[in-house]
Amino acid sequence: MSYVEISKDAFEAVLKEFDAKDFTPPYGTTEYVYRIEAKPKVVVMVYSSVSTVSGYSRNSGEDAIRLALLYEPEKGEHEAITSQFPIGKAKRINRVPDWGLRLKERIIELIVQGKAVETCPRDSGVLKIRESKYGKFLGCVNYPDCRYTKNIVEAKPIEHKS
Ligand SMILES: [Zn+2]
Repeated sequence: MSYVEISKDAFEAVLKEFDAKDFTPPYGTTEYVYRIEAKPKVVVMVYSSVSTVSGYSRNSGEDAIRLALLYEPEKGEHEAITSQFPIGKAKRINRVPDWGLRLKERIIELIVQGKAVETCPRDSGVLKIRESKYGKFLGCVNYPDCRYTKNIVEAKPIEHKS
């Protein structure tokens, strides 16, 4: 399969309608990475595949565009959100001719999922599913510093009145 070449400008043009920030990870990377906030402390990370050296998509190594929805406890720190949904896994977009459209669709999808992630109203910590002798509940990731909990509301079938 042949891949289209993507320049940094073309990539950033697709990101223009989102509030994407250039994010330079603390670890050594050779590609541009962008960060879009879905809600406080929940971010969509976009790994562009565009080389920070040449300004064009790389031809070696991980050459697809990847996206991940991550919890950001502190600036520059990221963790997968697997406690509520299996959404920490990166999604790939191959550099096919309509990559820009696919990228936009994926970003929107992840922002919607990110907004739905349950976070703590006190400190925006992500809520994790925990278990007690009374059953499952959501508890703040910052326990024991934060003791916020929330009941898990089970979806009930709609009752029809006759
Ligand atoms: Zn909390």
